[in-house]
Amino acid sequence: MSDATIVRAEGLRRSYGSGTAKVEALRGVSFTIGAGELVVLRGRSGSGKTTLLNLLGGLDRPSDGTVTVAGRRLDTISSAQLLELRREKVSYIFQSFGLIPILSAAENVGVPLRLLGVPAVQREERVKVLLQLVGLGDHMRQRAHELSGGQQQRVAIARALAAKPTLLLADEPTGQLDSRTGAQIMNLLRTLVHSEGVTALIATHDTSLMEIADRVLTISDGVLTEGAAETPGAAETPGAAESAVPAQVTGAAEAAG
Ligand code: ADP
Ligand code: MG
Repeated sequence: MSDATIVRAEGLRRSYGSGTAKVEALRGVSFTIGAGELVVLRGRSGSGKTTLLNLLGGLDRPSDGTVTVAGRRLDTISSAQLLELRREKVSYIFQSFGLIPILSAAENVGVPLRLLGVPAVQREERVKVLLQLVGLGDHMRQRAHELSGGQQQRVAIARALAAKPTLLLADEPTGQLDSRTGAQIMNLLRTLVHSEGVTALIATHDTSLMEIADRVLTISDGVLTEGAAETPGAAETPGAAESAVPAQVTGAAEAAG
C-alpha cells in the first residue's frame, strides 16, 4: 500500500442525454491510485475511458459520486479552482498530440511553464533537459508540424511533465502511431513517469501495451474491474471494483510537492 492516495473515485456515474437517448457511460466506478503508480486503463472503444479521464482531469463533472485528486474534491470545487488544478497538478497527453503546430518543440514544452510564470532562464533549462530526456535534444528549434507523429508525441510527453504534475492522464497516447513507435512511446512514458515521480493513468484499447503497467484496470460498458479481464471488453464481475477501495479518509492524502 502506498503512503498517499492521489486519485480516489467513489460511485462515479456519468450519463449523457435523457429518456430513451440516455447513455450511461460510467455506472458506479470506484477505485484508488497511489502515489507513483502507473495504471493502465484498458477497454474497448466506447467503454467509458475518455469519460473517466475527463472526470479525473477536471474537464467534466460526474452525474453522481465523488472524485478526489491530490486531496481535492473535483466534483464540488469551483470552476476557478478546477482551472488552477489543471494548471498546477494535472497534465494531459492526447491521441492527437495537441501541440501548437507553428511553435517549435521547445516553445511547446515551455507553454505550461509560461502559464505558471516560471522565469525565462529556468524555463529554458527545464525545457532543454526534458527534450533531451525524450530524445529530441537535436530538434529543439524545429516546428511541431515538421516532426513525425512519434516525435510529436515525445514533445507532448515532455510538455506534460514540464510543470512536474502530480497526476498525468494519457488518453490513447499511441492511437495514431504504428505499433513499433507506439511501443517505444509507452516505454518512454514508463521510464519518465517513474524517474519524475509522477502518478499516471494511461487509457488504451491496445492490449499489447499493458506490460508497462504497475497495475491494470479494465473498463467495460462503464463498469470498472481490477486487473486485465481475459477476454477484451468482457469484464465478468461488475461488483469487483468496490472491493478495490480501501478504507481511507477522503482528502487526507495531500501528496503535492
Ligand atoms: P472510450 O473513450 O472508451 O471510447 P467514451 O468515454 O468516449 O469511451 O464513451 C463512452 C460512452 O459514452 C459511449 O457510448 C459514447 O458514445 C458515449 N458518449 C461519450 N461522450 C458523449 C457525449 N458527449 N454525448 C453523448 N454520448 C457520449
Ligand atoms: Mg476515448
